[in-house]
Amino acid sequence: VFVCFEGGEGSGKSTQSRLLRTWLEEQGYRVVLTFEPGDTPVGQELRRIVLSPETGALADRTEALLYAADKAEHVETLVLPALERGEVVITDRYVDSTLAYQGAGRSLPVAEVEQVARWATGDLRPHLTVVLDLEPAAGLGRFEGRDRIEGESLEFHRRVREAFVAMAAADPAHYLVLDARASVDEIATAVQRRLEPLLAG
Ligand code: C5P
Repeated sequence: VFVCFEGGEGSGKSTQSRLLRTWLEEQGYRVVLTFEPGDTPVGQELRRIVLSPETGALADRTEALLYAADKAEHVETLVLPALERGEVVITDRYVDSTLAYQGAGRSLPVAEVEQVARWATGDLRPHLTVVLDLEPAAGLGRFEGRDRIEGESLEFHRRVREAFVAMAAADPAHYLVLDARASVDEIATAVQRRLEPLLAG
């Protein structure tokens, strides 16, 4: 089973992915908790390039390709092997982040970004994507000064948010959208309830 958390800055993805891992492990599942960008040796280098303020502005297509390279490495060396071992994989961000940030955010044609991202990942798709939805102004405050992306306008982050919600609305069978302002426990429980049938199936 392949589960993904998506959402804007400060929406609680990392907290919820850790809670989900603990809950799954308590039930005896073997779990790999991972993230994008940067959870492979090559990915770490790519993350440094795309996110460090010293890099300065990248061409939009360069950025999209570097994120795609991170995904290719991530899927082939970490995600797929774990799924093949029968483990549950939880990823904090995946293809939808690229469609939202590099596509909707940077205003590259989303269909083109999607082609690149699907090619990079061999079109591997999560069984469930949880979108933690939050008004950008509420989330950004938590991360002041941390990386390049916060320099982006509120408008940028609004486009990102709208993209996540639109992807979920278009494919409700594979998405769960939750209000990120709910309590940590409420969100964790909602994710567990939604996942139970998938784990059984
Ligand atoms: O999820 P995490 O906080 O580690 O992401 C690091 C930064 O990378 C975030 O600020 C996020 O907005 C940005 N990002 C991006 N495009 C992606 C994935 C992440 O701009 N495809």
